[in-house]
Amino acid sequence: MAVVLWLMIRGRRLPNTPACPSCRYYVRDLNGCICPECGNDLCASGVLGGMRMPVARWIRSLVVVFLAVVLFASYARYVFTPFQDLFDGILGRHVDHSGNYRIEIGFNPTASEIDSIKVEVDGQTNPTLMSDAPENLWDDQMPMHVTLKWHDGRQQELTLRPVLNKNGQIVEWEMHPVTQSKDEPSDNSPVVVDPNKSPAAYPKTVPSSSLDDHVSMWVEQSGPLSDPWDPARFVLARSVSRMQLIHARKASSADLHDLLGESAQAQVSSTIGGNFMTMSRPMLRAHWFIFGLWVVVWVVVLILVLIPNTRYEQWPQRTF
Ligand SMILES: [Zn+2]
Repeated sequence: MAVVLWLMIRGRRLPNTPACPSCRYYVRDLNGCICPECGNDLCASGVLGGMRMPVARWIRSLVVVFLAVVLFASYARYVFTPFQDLFDGILGRHVDHSGNYRIEIGFNPTASEIDSIKVEVDGQTNPTLMSDAPENLWDDQMPMHVTLKWHDGRQQELTLRPVLNKNGQIVEWEMHPVTQSKDEPSDNSPVVVDPNKSPAAYPKTVPSSSLDDHVSMWVEQSGPLSDPWDPARFVLARSVSRMQLIHARKASSADLHDLLGESAQAQVSSTIGGNFMTMSRPMLRAHWFIFGLWVVVWVVVLILVLIPNTRYEQWPQRTF
């Protein structure tokens, strides 16, 4: 490549000089200004001396542009990974979560009045997720759902909606309880709990730091539990705390043994996990940098290649 460019700049030597710049006619023995071959005024245009004559500038430009385009693909393939690694090393990467996550734990009737607890965040399950579409990712606005089943057949649900501050951080949660009774099989639609039945009116907004306590209180209000130390209630509080961390992307999974604590014996079944993924993507993509660098390099090459010009000597030549 460099050889091609060098040869273009160097050009070819004219066989006989001085020569007319229009028709290359050998004019050494000519007297006067007019080229006998083509009628060019040599006194105005000058003559070609002993210099080599570089290839015309427009041809040089075309060759440079052609080389830049043809070589781009292999250059980009070669430098992409090193540049991207460099950028990732300096700037770090975005870590995104997506999918859904569920904590579901069942309890033995002798251990708890509660049959099962479920804490879930549905998230996004769009199959195009893996193609790196940020709008489909796990976001901060997603609600958390709590479902409580009692051994006597009652079922209660609680929807927790995050309240974000100006900086986009979750500072509070709105609690929306829903009750659903197995005694009314004909009507499956959830019934909003009667606010007069509970000491605090719902929906209510609670600080995220005490969300687990408020969920625990919600269980007690709707129970009430005959055993204040009912293990399911504590496991639910721990599950909600853990899910808050997962929701905020400070954790990517929950561990059953941590959630159960000392009440491991009470548990009969569990499902923890989901279609939950953690992905990372670059803070800055190397694409434009690589392209920009290539353009800059080739603009410099183009300028260097275009500088040499055909030099003309004065006519008539002076004789000393
Ligand atoms: Zn001529």
